[in-house]
Amino acid sequence: MEYNIYAYKCKRCGHVQYPYRTICRNCHENDHNEFDIVPLPKKGKLLTYTILYNPPSDYETPTISLGIVELEDGNRITGQLKIDKPKTGMAVVGRVEIVRNESYNEYRGMVFYKA
Ligand SMILES: [Zn+2]
Repeated sequence: MEYNIYAYKCKRCGHVQYPYRTICRNCHENDHNEFDIVPLPKKGKLLTYTILYNPPSDYETPTISLGIVELEDGNRITGQLKIDKPKTGMAVVGRVEIVRNESYNEYRGMVFYKA
């Protein structure tokens, strides 16, 4: 099963935004709250990244790479990187995977790979 992360498409102007806001960033309407829920694209470009060397103990890896990716529709999202040598500007593709296990709760998020 393929999972998605969802964005909000303004019914008035068609602008897609993520994360949720009550006001459309494009047409600035704020009294209708009319959005269609659409999946975010998974392809994008790595804008910047960092490596965490001391993640909380429930992450089962010694380091975590986190990146900010500009997706094809212009939205930006933070996600983990499973890329050996990340470079800003490189093409990446995301998958929604389990990123954290906290006792019996599993948290999913976008994980990016080299495209
Ligand atoms: Zn709008």
